Amino acid sequence: MKAQSLLIGGQWVDAKGHEREDVTSPFNGDVVGNIALARPADAERAIDAAVVGFETWRRTPAHARFAILTKAAALADERAEDIAQIMSRENGKSILEARGEASRSGDIIRLSAFEGSQLYGDSLPLDANKGTGFDKIGFTIHQPVGVIVAISPFNYPALLVLHKIAPALAAGNAVVLKPARATPLTALAVAQCFVDAGLPDGVLNVVTGGGSDVGDALVRDRRVRKISFTGSTNVGEHIASIAGVKKLSLELGASGPVIVLDDADIDAATTSIALGGYINAGQVCISAQRIIVHEKIVDDFIASLTPKVEAIRVGDPFGDGITIGSMISRAEADRVTESIRAAISAGARLVTGGEQDGSVIQPAIVADVDPYSPFAQDELFGPAVAVSTARDIQHAIELANSTAYGLGAGVFTNNMSNTIRAIREIESGVVHINWTQLWRADLMPYGGFKSSGIGKEGPRSAIAEMTEIKTVIMHGTPWTNN
Ligand code: NAP
Repeated sequence: MKAQSLLIGGQWVDAKGHEREDVTSPFNGDVVGNIALARPADAERAIDAAVVGFETWRRTPAHARFAILTKAAALADERAEDIAQIMSRENGKSILEARGEASRSGDIIRLSAFEGSQLYGDSLPLDANKGTGFDKIGFTIHQPVGVIVAISPFNYPALLVLHKIAPALAAGNAVVLKPARATPLTALAVAQCFVDAGLPDGVLNVVTGGGSDVGDALVRDRRVRKISFTGSTNVGEHIASIAGVKKLSLELGASGPVIVLDDADIDAATTSIALGGYINAGQVCISAQRIIVHEKIVDDFIASLTPKVEAIRVGDPFGDGITIGSMISRAEADRVTESIRAAISAGARLVTGGEQDGSVIQPAIVADVDPYSPFAQDELFGPAVAVSTARDIQHAIELANSTAYGLGAGVFTNNMSNTIRAIREIESGVVHINWTQLWRADLMPYGGFKSSGIGKEGPRSAIAEMTEIKTVIMHGTPWTNN
């Protein structure tokens, strides 16, 4: 097993304090890696290096950036199986899911590389402003913001790293990446693709270690022009409170609603929910958590959903036929078990699942959930859905909008008016019709309303947020009446 280092200024270096820690499998506790533990002094070194790297990268033409990124994408394609193995070992997700995630890496880099070569500006119709004529020309140019700090969570350790660093680099920015403490190895493997593709020194830096140790140093630094954070709402609020004047993108938590109306295809809805509520052991910000079912069809709905959820095979991430592995830690599994217990003692009914074995939880359906109870309102981030009922579409939309969050929503209906009403009235960044919110095309704008965050990801949107618009006005001498 290789001891891994920090990536600073193009070199793989030890942390200043020479502290290290093991990375362990959440499924069986095996040591799967060993990393350098960064402290604030290392964060500062990484920003120093990024400042230098940016000076080179911002003067590197788009076609040269494009060439390096497409080479990194090809390397990510070639190494997809290695990345999947690393990911499954450190994260506990099934190798099946890890392969699916790793196989998207190259495409995210390519989509970003393309968008980074399309930084078009606007020409400004200045003569529409009274007193201004044809003697001036105005236009905008897009420039990289500078040094971007990218902080990523554990649940999609390749995808969510790439949704930050690929657009940032494509647009000409330098990056300091701080991956989740639980999943640094995937991030380092992904970073290696960019290094091997010839990215200049200092343009991408990676500091591994604890967010509470290095987070403040990265976030407060005035040389950093943007923070791109994905993680919990609590940490996001902390970052927003100390970041100062810099651009912020916050992709935060959720308690995703799915509405199933009485005109829906119940079988189609339950097939989709048996995926959307449980993929990645429910550790997805766009997990289908609250299922709001029309009261007329709730019994049929539960009867249709139950066998599909019971058919999900959970356990050893590398086990034959296992689709869902472990949660990220025993502590997280304990937390989810406790939440299910609390819901049941508050009057809900456990239809199936919920048995815990270490960090693995059997997919659960909890019915008769009070939609205003913590089990529905708070983010669960585990393999269970909460089923509640609604009287009609208005009531269903009210319930869907009743939490602090607004990231993704799903609506199952075959009625056009209900569809349009739901699209317009649901407060969330993405609405899916006849599928749950657990679906993402990497190019689409993706981000939440309310406490689910600020800003949008997806290569084109991320690049818009990772560039500055400079307005240029050229003043000539008037030769006509203004
Ligand atoms: P988390 O605990 O908030 O951690 C996210 C990242 O923030 C990690 O790298 C963490 O480092 C770092 N961090 C912790 N404290 C910090 C601080 N004081 N300053 C700066 N960074 C700090 O979240 P998680 O448990 O990894 O991920 C689960 C959460 O992410 C859920 O709430 C989920 O909904 C959300 N999420 C949202 C989206 C979205 O697109 N909206 C996507 C995926 C996940 P350490 O790991 O070292 O603590």
